[in-house]
Amino acid sequence: MSVRKLFQLSALRETWKTAAMKSTPGRQQGVLRWTHSGGCSYRAVIFDMGGVLMPSPWTVAAEWEAHNRIPSGTIRQAFVRDGNRGPWMRFLRGEITTEGFLEEFGRLCSEIAKTSVPVNSFLSLITSEQLAKQFPVMTQAISQIRARGLQTAVLTNNFCLSNGESFLPLDRKQFDVVVESCLEGISKPDPRIYQLCLQRLSLQPSEAIFLDDLGPNVKAAASLGIHTIKVDHPETAVKELEALLGFPLCVGVPNTGPVRKTMEIAEAALEKYLKGLLGTHDTGPMELLQFDHGQSNPTYYIRLADRQLVLRKKPPGTLLPSAHAIEREFRIMKALRNADVPVPTVLDLCEDSSIIGTPFYLMEYCPGIIYKDPSLPGLEPSQRQAIYTAMNQVLCRIHSVDLQATGLDSFGKQGDYIPRQVQTWTKQYRAAETSSIPAMERLIQWLPLHLPRQQRTTVVHGDFRLDNLIFHPEKAEVLAVLDWELSTLGDPFADVAYSCLAHYLPSSFPMLRGFRDQDVTQLGIPTVEEYFRMYCLHMGISPIDNWNFYMAFSFFRVAAILQGVYRRSLTGQASSATAKQSGKLTEFMAELAWDFATKEGFRIFKEMPATKPLVRSYHAWAGSRPQRTPADVRSYSTVAAASPSQETKGGLIISPEGLSPRVRKLYDQLLQFMEQNVYPLEPELQRHQASADRWSPSPRIEDLKEKAKAEGLWNLFLPLETDPEKKYGAGLTNMEYAHLCEVMGMSLYASEIFNCSAPDTGNMELLVRYGTEEQKARWLVPLLEGRIRSCFAMTEPQVASSDASNIEASIREEGGSYVLNGHKWWISGILDPRCKLCVFMGKTDPQAPRHKQQSIVLVPMDTPGINVIRPLSVYGLEDAPGGHGEVRFKDVRVPKENIVLGPGRGFEIAQGRLGPGRIHHCMRLIGFSERALSLMKTRVMSRTAFGKPLVEHGTILADIARSRVDIEQARLLVLKAAHLMDVAGSKAAALEIAMIKMVAPSMAYQVIDRAIQAFGAAGLGGDYPLAQFFAWARALRFADGPDEVHRLTVAKMELKNPSRLPEPAAPRV
Ligand SMILES: Cc1cc2nc3c(=O)[nH]c(=O)nc-3n(C[C@H](O)[C@H](O)[C@H](O)COP(=O)(O)OP(=O)(O)OC[C@H]3O[C@@H](n4cnc5c(N)ncnc54)[C@H](O)[C@@H]3O)c2cc1C
Repeated sequence: MSVRKLFQLSALRETWKTAAMKSTPGRQQGVLRWTHSGGCSYRAVIFDMGGVLMPSPWTVAAEWEAHNRIPSGTIRQAFVRDGNRGPWMRFLRGEITTEGFLEEFGRLCSEIAKTSVPVNSFLSLITSEQLAKQFPVMTQAISQIRARGLQTAVLTNNFCLSNGESFLPLDRKQFDVVVESCLEGISKPDPRIYQLCLQRLSLQPSEAIFLDDLGPNVKAAASLGIHTIKVDHPETAVKELEALLGFPLCVGVPNTGPVRKTMEIAEAALEKYLKGLLGTHDTGPMELLQFDHGQSNPTYYIRLADRQLVLRKKPPGTLLPSAHAIEREFRIMKALRNADVPVPTVLDLCEDSSIIGTPFYLMEYCPGIIYKDPSLPGLEPSQRQAIYTAMNQVLCRIHSVDLQATGLDSFGKQGDYIPRQVQTWTKQYRAAETSSIPAMERLIQWLPLHLPRQQRTTVVHGDFRLDNLIFHPEKAEVLAVLDWELSTLGDPFADVAYSCLAHYLPSSFPMLRGFRDQDVTQLGIPTVEEYFRMYCLHMGISPIDNWNFYMAFSFFRVAAILQGVYRRSLTGQASSATAKQSGKLTEFMAELAWDFATKEGFRIFKEMPATKPLVRSYHAWAGSRPQRTPADVRSYSTVAAASPSQETKGGLIISPEGLSPRVRKLYDQLLQFMEQNVYPLEPELQRHQASADRWSPSPRIEDLKEKAKAEGLWNLFLPLETDPEKKYGAGLTNMEYAHLCEVMGMSLYASEIFNCSAPDTGNMELLVRYGTEEQKARWLVPLLEGRIRSCFAMTEPQVASSDASNIEASIREEGGSYVLNGHKWWISGILDPRCKLCVFMGKTDPQAPRHKQQSIVLVPMDTPGINVIRPLSVYGLEDAPGGHGEVRFKDVRVPKENIVLGPGRGFEIAQGRLGPGRIHHCMRLIGFSERALSLMKTRVMSRTAFGKPLVEHGTILADIARSRVDIEQARLLVLKAAHLMDVAGSKAAALEIAMIKMVAPSMAYQVIDRAIQAFGAAGLGGDYPLAQFFAWARALRFADGPDEVHRLTVAKMELKNPSRLPEPAAPRV
């Protein structure tokens, strides 16, 4: 949805009007009239349940589908499939059990959706307490109808739950007659069921009104002579019913109830005061109700004679001096009223506490709609869009108020709003702190360091959210902005961010309801980015980049507030269960805030200046002379023939000192991160891997991931060549990454912390290169964010898998799905509970040419039929929690869209997958080796044998020298391969890739072996990382393809290359 479109308000108003009119067929909004003014000729009202008294399963289905990524309309189609004989209708008539229904209906849905559809969860949702609630407007209407002596009935197409009881979450006492299809064996629109209902009511059809949301049901009732109302919106239907019955059904004031016991006020004194104020004498009794809004400052509804007022007061008891300043609320509302900001008209401020016990102020009651659920259920997408646009615009109006003209320039301090707020909320949090929350600690450090450089000063509302706005009932217009308790002067972006909190909160969130579990675009609600852009556009200011900072700050502030609530609940009345819950909410909010902090960190990092051309003195510079001669003839220079754009990528940098300032900074940051966070944690992580909990990821790793993200040390692996727009990764070249990856290689645990570990890196690259937009949205994004992990399943026990053409697993097309069968093993990462995606390789067409038989499909790990038989170990090391699993795939069914690129493209993809990713292991092996050599040097300098330090023994010295030379050689080859990939592409670098894969594991294996030897027995134990390094280096002589296969490649290419010196074919004699 474009922002510009959001601003086409006139068009939106039209859509709104059409939608509103649609909801009252045959009538125009605002001209409804009561047709029966006196006695009523009807004697009963019959209600349908779903869609009339409570939300319709049809509407719920649409949102559930969007949430579960099920094709839209699946449930609807399945509901009507096979008409009367379909599973839904038979279920409604009680002809099949819940289990039978779920099985049949699930099959039907899966067939329609071409993917497995978890219908159980749908049924649980529609029967959940959260959804199965009667609309308050209907409850009120029913009580009014009964109060007039009319009968009420519920006539519902209903079903039985698995406990045998029918699903009727209504208070039966509200109805004289209850008729349920599942108990009668007949369902609407069968006329017999209406007749049954009338019979039980002892009425003629013309004496009843029937309300249903489905056309055919309404039609059937009408054909019997019953008066009908088709329900699109409960409120509109009640208005229509009101018109037919001739008496009011909505008598109460919305969102009010009787005054709470603890909040009672002296009514007589108030009434006297009001009469004096309004000059009213002959009044009748004053009506006093309390709003459920305004928890902090109690708010009351007053009806006195023909006046409707709202009273807002301070809470009783001792208060902090600056809190609950209703005087300020009064002042700002008064000022804003004259500045074209919609606020209720304020009438009077009474600071005399003797009247009702505390100061209070009065304003006019403003009727309208308050949308309590920010996902705006029951509205059309265009209406939601219009509501959010109106909300955004009214915020702009608040922020455009002229401070001087309104006299509000002294309403608060000017400037430094955010730093002051951060300080205030940090203090508040500290005062209420009960235990250390890591995310809060990180935020307290992070926020002051990332404060926005420029801040405007305007009026800020301080609690600007949808349910503090009163809307016009028939159009998207804000009639009044309420609750100015936290208003002051400050940075307006704080309000913008705060008004977007709902985007990130689940609908079940106890205090602030959200809609993060729904697809905003489908709902018609602008995304946060769009909302911010819309705001900037409307204010005529440039869009801001650092909105993540403001989101982090907003959630931090809410977390601090919640901590206060938690603390009070511990010392106060709340039960321990509630207290515990609000404690968790603080953590939840803090985590959300931290998510934004990390996003902001990553944004800043991405915007650092790009790599500059390089400095000669620090590195071996290979000129960009065009070297390439005829096709297929390789040059031996470090630079392959480069196109002009490739030349800009610079030369081969052999030491970190030669890296551009941006990458050098990153390199230093990484070194520091390793020193401060990773090495110290190794013993603990090692213990975790040996503990009974080893198959669960260590929380310490998760903590460090967050820290790394915030520092911008995240997804460094994705090379510019795959991601030229830096959409997904850090935009480093392969060569730059080689230097950084070596540092990560120094610890076995490091690469995961920076989201740079195999097999995820290869899988992410595969998705970036070949994935469809849907595949990327579903898998790439969570992988890039480090929320899930993945595995790659190729190797099979029964065939020599180093030759991928041997792979036997089958991928069979069946209907709209692929069915996978096969036996795989050594599948790294598959045991990790975070592993949600398996990239599966198998054969789609065994008859096709050898390299066209294979395909790759994306398999969600929760697909039925995947059975991990056992974890395998490398020299006894299980490598938990990811492990290496042996797995059977039996009739694993995935939708056809899960294939990557298309059938027969598996080989091609596997090669691409291991493009740059192919040498990451080699880069890390250099790191293993450097650390091993470093440990060896320290060790031999500290021990003495046979009369002299080990370091003075000639064999040890020779080993050290050998290792240094081996590492240097291998590093140069790694860098050369990486550099060639950058300047000429992976294909042109095939020889270097094969050479380094041949060299690096054996080199590391030998360097580590020498270190182990110098350590003595300690080298084999768990006190040092050497034994683990050794096992890995050994394993990589297969895992990255066997040495022999790489040797074969090198030899074949070498033979293709003409000899350098012309030698005669026959020996010279
Ligand atoms: C720690 C570890 C992790 C792994 N992770 C994964 C994973 O995540 N996903 C996955 O699919 N697989 C994984 N593998 C499996 C790995 O990819 C295979 O082991 C490798 O491809 C070799 O296949 P193979 O074991 O079937 O050996 P085979 O193909 O049976 O080869 C055995 C031996 O035959 C010899 N040989 C093979 N070809 C030639 C040749 N052309 N010339 C001369 N000799 C030859 C070599 O000595 C070779 O070692 C992993 C392996 C290990 C050890």
